Amino acid sequence: MEKVKRYIFMHMSSCEMCGESCEEHKTLGIRLNKSQGKSPKNKTGIAVGVKKCTRCNLIYASPQPIPNDLQDHYGTPPEDYWKPEYFKWNKNYFRIQTQTAQELLNFKKGMTALDIGAGLGKAMLTLENEGFDTLGLEPSKPFYSRAIEQMGISEKKLSFGAVEDLDYDSESFDFITFGAVVEHLYNPKECIEKAMKWLKPNGIIHIEVPSSNWLISAIINKYYRLIGTNYVTNLSPMHAPFHLYEFDLKSFEYLGNEIGFNIAKHHFSVCEIFFLPKFLHPLLNWYMKRTNRGMQLTVYLKKNG
Ligand SMILES: [Zn+2]
Repeated sequence: MEKVKRYIFMHMSSCEMCGESCEEHKTLGIRLNKSQGKSPKNKTGIAVGVKKCTRCNLIYASPQPIPNDLQDHYGTPPEDYWKPEYFKWNKNYFRIQTQTAQELLNFKKGMTALDIGAGLGKAMLTLENEGFDTLGLEPSKPFYSRAIEQMGISEKKLSFGAVEDLDYDSESFDFITFGAVVEHLYNPKECIEKAMKWLKPNGIIHIEVPSSNWLISAIINKYYRLIGTNYVTNLSPMHAPFHLYEFDLKSFEYLGNEIGFNIAKHHFSVCEIFFLPKFLHPLLNWYMKRTNRGMQLTVYLKKNG
C-alpha cells in the first residue's frame, strides 16, 4: 500500500522568475498527481491548477503542493534502481557543457567549479578531468554515499545537503552547474541568486530546464480540449519526476535584469519523444528544431562584472 502523504498547498501571489502578479496569469488547466493517459476522465486523484505567466512564460502549479516531508518525493530509490551502467563514467559525460563553459570563461587550468546536485559525481569527474578544481553538493543520502564509496569522489570535495541549506564563500567559483535541478526547486529564484553570490564576477552558471514552449505538450493539451476535458500535461508537482516549473528564455532574461546576469549562450534541445505515433517523430523533430520548440532549454548565465 502507498504511504500516507501530507501536503501544504501554497498560494502563489507573484511569478517566481519575473515578479508579475499571478492574478493576471492565464490558467492552462488542471494536472493530476499521476500519469493522465488518453482518458483522464476515468482517473481519480488530486489535481492542482496550472498557470502560465503572461510576461515571462513561466509555467507553475497554482496552488503549489509542497510535501510535508521531502523524502516522500525524493526518498531512497529501490535497490533495483542502481543499475551497474549508472556507475560507469566516461570522459564525454557532461563534456559539451564543460567545454562550453571553458570557452565562455577563457579557461585557465585550476579555475574552480561547483556542481549543485552532483548525483553520483560523474560531472564532477569530467570537470576535474578537464582541469577545473571542483566541489559538489548532493542532497540525497543514497546518491551522496555512492558517489564517495563507488565513484571515488573525495569526501572533502562533496558536501551532503541541499542548495537551500549549504553555504560557500562569496565569489569563490568560476563555474557553477545546476544540471537538471532548477525545475525541482520550490524557490528557483532564491537558489539562483544564492549561487550568483558564490560565483565570481564574469563567472558562468549552467542550467538545464524543461521548456514551457514544448511542442509535444501543446499537442497533448489540444487533444485534452478536443475530448472535452481541461487537463494539461505540463509539470508533475505531485509525482515523479516532480517538475514544479517550466521555463522560457524570457524567464531568465527578467531574472537577469533583477539580480545581475546576462544570458551568454542558450539552446533548445529536441530530446526523445515518448508519445504520439512513431511515424510522426521525424517530422515533429524537424519542426521542433526549426522553431525552438524542443523539450529542454539550456542557458549559460554570465554574472555581471
Ligand atoms: Zn513571469
